[in-house]
Amino acid sequence: MKNRWIILIFAFAAGMCVAQSSSAPLTPHFVRCGALIHPATGRVQRNVVIEVYGDRVTEVRENFTPPAGAAVIDLSDHTCMPGLVDTHTHVLLQGDITAADYDEQLLKQSVAYRAILATRSARRALDYGFTTIRDLETEGAGYADVDLKHAIERGIVPGPRMRVASRAMDVTGAYPLLGYAPEVPVPHGVQVVDGPDNGRKAVREQIGFGADWIKVYSDRSYFVRPDGVLDDIPTFTLDELRAIVDETHRQHHKIASHAMALNGVHNSVEAGVDSIEHGNYITDADLKTMVQKGIFYVPTIYVGEYVAEGRAAAGAKVWLDMIKIHADTFNRALHAGVKIAFGTDVGGFDWGVNPAVEFPYMVKYGMTPVQALRSATSSAAELLDMEKDIGAVSAGKYADIVAVEGDPLADITLLQKIDFVMKGGEVWKAPRR
Ligand SMILES: [Zn+2]
Repeated sequence: MKNRWIILIFAFAAGMCVAQSSSAPLTPHFVRCGALIHPATGRVQRNVVIEVYGDRVTEVRENFTPPAGAAVIDLSDHTCMPGLVDTHTHVLLQGDITAADYDEQLLKQSVAYRAILATRSARRALDYGFTTIRDLETEGAGYADVDLKHAIERGIVPGPRMRVASRAMDVTGAYPLLGYAPEVPVPHGVQVVDGPDNGRKAVREQIGFGADWIKVYSDRSYFVRPDGVLDDIPTFTLDELRAIVDETHRQHHKIASHAMALNGVHNSVEAGVDSIEHGNYITDADLKTMVQKGIFYVPTIYVGEYVAEGRAAAGAKVWLDMIKIHADTFNRALHAGVKIAFGTDVGGFDWGVNPAVEFPYMVKYGMTPVQALRSATSSAAELLDMEKDIGAVSAGKYADIVAVEGDPLADITLLQKIDFVMKGGEVWKAPRR
């Protein structure tokens, strides 16, 4: 820890943290990398020096010697990459294997307390090497994600760049808290919305309060049919979904759909959402439509295994069956050419687990290591419409750089051992020397 603060002080002295200040003089500084991976192309450069000015990368050169006396961070024994992006997180949730875990957070923790925990989650995300996240709803904590995003942007607390979905939506009777006596008012993990007009109103309201993304829950109550198809009960009608999607796009925002099975996915794809979250089962026909419409698939594989045993023990064996179905869907999506973005659902599992645990699953289910890394960098940047700023280490983009000892393209599990993190030119984590 001590070492980290020395580096941070160095970073301040080198002018890394004055990017917001227009009058402060800026000094270029340099990051020397043994190798630099460009995930979009798979190209790997050796002996690279990255020039950083303020919060941006200004140049990337091979075999370059920085001027005498310049501030240089020496990572010549490391492999550098663009900062990672997790496109499916819940900073305001701290693991919910069972319904009881979930209910306890909504019933016994104030939103203020949950927001304090969320600042710890955000700090952890950054420590793991995730310099940008799309946080896909607060699970009953209102617009606390918008507040956290602003606090990070203002430098009050450390954390990744955030794109937030605020409250999300589901229909009456579909989303926890459920199972309480009708006369007992309980909170809900989403904004409860019925009917196309109310859907439009909720979109307007959420965007008005700062949501970057809209999120809907499109299905529930999963079961495996005798023919092996993962079936469900769709929540919204197609008319409702279409209205919500249309209103979101009319306001130049994007919409993510939690859709795990047959009907939820189909309705979401028909309505034209921008990303399918989880997608444990997707028909070949819907995969084809996803390619045609440019709809992203955010598979969140690890969380399924994380919750499966606990939920099976509680009587829901379907969660164990869903793991195999998910692996098959992932493989078919990959071969169909569907755009895939890295997302983990962390918060659904404990933030003490490094979300980079997802990468080996993606490789096990058919991706090459560079494809997996691409899903968490350039592809994720495309999903978030942030290609100009993130997803690559190149001139003009934010200086979001992470590094690890060894070659993550030879051993994908190394992405769980990132020990250098720079976000916007600021060093947040540096290897112990
Ligand atoms: Zn989620």
